[in-house]
Amino acid sequence: MKTLLRSTLSRRSFLGRVSAGAVALAGAPAILRAQGAKPRKLGVAIVGLGNYARGQIGPALKLTENCELTAVVTGSPEKGRKWAQDYGFSEKSVYGYDRIADLADNKAVDIVYVITPNSMHADGVIAAAKAGKHVISEKPFTTNVADAVKAIAACKAAKVKLSIGYRLHFDPIHQEFMRLAKDPSFGPFTKMNGEFSFVMKNKVWRAERKYAGGGPVMDLGVYVMQEACMAAGGVAPIAITAKAAETTKPEIFADVEQTMNFTLEFPGGAVCEAVTSYSQSANRFRAESASGNWVEFKTNAYMYTGVGAVSNRGPLTFPPVNQQAKQMDDFATCIREGRESRVSGEMGLRDMKIIEAIYEAARTGKKVALRA
Ligand code: NAD
Repeated sequence: MKTLLRSTLSRRSFLGRVSAGAVALAGAPAILRAQGAKPRKLGVAIVGLGNYARGQIGPALKLTENCELTAVVTGSPEKGRKWAQDYGFSEKSVYGYDRIADLADNKAVDIVYVITPNSMHADGVIAAAKAGKHVISEKPFTTNVADAVKAIAACKAAKVKLSIGYRLHFDPIHQEFMRLAKDPSFGPFTKMNGEFSFVMKNKVWRAERKYAGGGPVMDLGVYVMQEACMAAGGVAPIAITAKAAETTKPEIFADVEQTMNFTLEFPGGAVCEAVTSYSQSANRFRAESASGNWVEFKTNAYMYTGVGAVSNRGPLTFPPVNQQAKQMDDFATCIREGRESRVSGEMGLRDMKIIEAIYEAARTGKKVALRA
C-alpha cells in the first residue's frame, strides 16, 4: 500500500506540474516564453506580525518559488523595520493598520496575507481588495457568515482573488486522504470522528469573543470540520447537532465555550462525531468506510510537520513538504492562470455556515439544517 500510495501521488503531482507549467507559459508574455524566463515572483504583504506570521508564514515565504515578502502592515513600526531588514524590502513598505489603502500605490505588492486576530480578518480582506490586491485570509475566514459574504463581495467587486489559509490541502498525506475518500475501491467514508484540542492556561485574545468570535470551535474545530468535509468527498454537511460541555474555568472562558461536542451529518448518511476544546489535548481524526477500510490520524493530524496517518492497507508515507509554501505558491499560480483557489473564499464561507450552525444547535439543543 505504501508503494501504491507513493507512486500514485508522484505520478499525479508530476502530471500536475507539467500541465500547470504549460498553462503558465501559455499565459506568459511571448518574450518570456521565447527566452524560457521564469515569471516574476508575486509580492506579498503580511498584515499582522504575530506568532503565525513570524514562525510559519515569513519563513515559508523564503521557500516559495512564486512569492516574496515585499511589505508588512503592523502596529509596531520598529518590528516592521526589523522585518524589512530581515527580508530585504524597503522600510517605506512598512505600513500601519490604518494605511492598508496605501498598498494600492505599491506596485511591489500583489497579494495581501491577513494574519490578525479572527475578528479583524474581514476588515483586512475588504481593505486589501479595495486597494486592488489579491487576498489570503487566515482561518477562520471571519467570525460570522454576514462578514464572510461581505468580504467575498468586496473581492468580486474589485476583481481580485481570495483564498483561505487552509494549509492542510497542500499536505501530501491529507491529499492522499482526500483521494482515498473519493476512490470507490477504498471509500466512501461513512463513519468519522476527530478532535483538535489544547490546554489554554491563560486568558488570551483567543478566549475573548470580541477578538476570536468564539472559542475552540473557531480556532481548532474548524480543522475537524475541514477534515470531515474532506472525508465526505468535499461536500458540506446537511445537518448539525452540538452541545457545549460545562465551563470549569470561568476566569478564562467568560464569554466563549471551553469545550464543544458536535456531530456533522452528510448527504448519503455519513456522520462525523467531533470534539474541540481548550482544556484537554488531542490532535486526531479517523474515517471508516462501510466496506471496512479506514484511515486514522492518531496524533499530529493537523500539524505543520510530522502529520502521521495509517490505513488498514498500510501507512500513508510521503516526503515532508512546507505546507504554507505550497499553499502560497499555489495561490500565486491561480492568480497567474486566472483560476480560483482550491481553498476559496466560498470554502471559508461554507465553514462559517457550519460554525454558526454549531453555535445555534448548542444554544437551542435542536438539530440545525445547514442551508447551502
Ligand atoms: P498572535 O496573537 O500571535 O498575532 C496576532 C497579531 O495581530 C499580532 O501581531 C498583534 O499585534 C496583531 N494585532 C493587531 N490588532 C490586534 C488587536 N486588536 N488585538 C490583538 N492583536 C492584534 O496570533 P497568531 O497565532 O499569529 O494568529 C493570527 C491568526 O492566524 C489567527 O486568525 C489564527 O487563527 C491564524 N492562525 C492560523 C494558523 C494555521 O495553521 N493556518 C496557525 C496559527 C494561527
